[in-house]
Amino acid sequence: MFSQLGLSPTTCAPLARLGYTTPTPIQIKAIPVVLTGADLLARAQTGTGKTAAFGLPMIQRLTTQGAAGRVKPRALVLVPTRELALQVSQTLSGYAGSSRLRVVAIYGGVGMGGQIQALRRGTDIVVATPGRLIDHMQRKTVDLSGIEVLTLDEADRMLDMGFQPALKRILPVLPRQRQTLLFSATLEDGVVGLSAEFTRNPARVDVSTGQVVAANVTHQVHHVSTERKRDLLSHILTEHTEQALVFCKTKRGANRVGDDLEQRGVSAGVIHGNKSQSARNRALSDFKTGRVRVLVATDIAARGLDIARLPLVVNFDLPLVAEDYVHRVGRTGRAGLDGRAVSLVSGADAGLLREIERIVKTPLERLNAPVADTAGAPREAAQYARPRQRPRTARAVSAGARPGSGWTRSPSRRSNPRRPPVAR
Ligand code: AMP
Repeated sequence: MFSQLGLSPTTCAPLARLGYTTPTPIQIKAIPVVLTGADLLARAQTGTGKTAAFGLPMIQRLTTQGAAGRVKPRALVLVPTRELALQVSQTLSGYAGSSRLRVVAIYGGVGMGGQIQALRRGTDIVVATPGRLIDHMQRKTVDLSGIEVLTLDEADRMLDMGFQPALKRILPVLPRQRQTLLFSATLEDGVVGLSAEFTRNPARVDVSTGQVVAANVTHQVHHVSTERKRDLLSHILTEHTEQALVFCKTKRGANRVGDDLEQRGVSAGVIHGNKSQSARNRALSDFKTGRVRVLVATDIAARGLDIARLPLVVNFDLPLVAEDYVHRVGRTGRAGLDGRAVSLVSGADAGLLREIERIVKTPLERLNAPVADTAGAPREAAQYARPRQRPRTARAVSAGARPGSGWTRSPSRRSNPRRPPVAR
């Protein structure tokens, strides 16, 4: 089936090992376009196989044209977070299979030495966060003059105000003659307009069915006072015995929630921008391998991270920006599996909640808090103990989503002063 999209047997070979039998809707639509060499703006819900949608045709191009392992990289993938740089580079290495293509991840928070050596040895694909890539450009330890394919993963974030200065420094040093691909779950009109400055007649692919979140995710809301949130979280984690990713608004808040969970006997890791990169990598890897049950995170973990079969996301606090809700809950319900997102909200969140409902185009199910909102013993709420079962609708991945009719408009975040600063 992948071969029907124009991919060669060599490109398809690693997919069987990864258990990919059928291409996802975004792969079906995007791969043939990318193989033509055209520029592309692609929109698909989170967790629906975007990395392979740009990665496989890019790898085929690099293996069939020119020699592998050249000193100058030929493909550049820009991503917004360090964790994503590592994840995407590992995923692409897996897709590259036994080809001799080399993939190097370039991201901040770790020493430059290892990255400089890897770049010197020769690489075909660089997966980078913009800040660290600029550090290498300034030291002249990376030469981007041979880039044939540029991909912006999480393109809306890459084009928002925080990253624009960095992109303005990177784009001019890339060859004009290149293929440019933009992939994202949300692509607002403003972003599409901005991309016109550095793409050429891009094709558009949209398999989001007008929905920005996958249909297989259940959204629930608990109204609860701030003081009772930790008790409620603990209750949710008692009732739900699998892994959970818990989002907090601030780094200090994440630390507090992580400590509280540990005190209650729930193994928890914490990940945020004040932790060293090695601590961040360790916390994420402990969570991915199941060594810890709960990962408490700020929004640095909201984008793109692929945690296999994660069943539950808890918004301990709502995100600062309503659209980040989409990315947070996109960590669950991936690859066609069911997922659940529970948000703990207080009265002050009412406006933000309405904005989130407008963006996700789905009413968020209101639940009674199972924990007394005044001091006292937890009490079960039947409504919570038996969460409503969603009818099993067509899965975005396995059953195939219908292509959407167009690009939905969502409020601009580029000018949002509340967005946290960009990490290098
Ligand atoms: P991505 O959106 O690229 O992060 O992919 C989300 C998840 O879907 C990852 O765990 C991939 O390994 C998985 N995946 C991607 N494409 C396929 C496919 N065709 N069949 C099964 N799983 C896939």
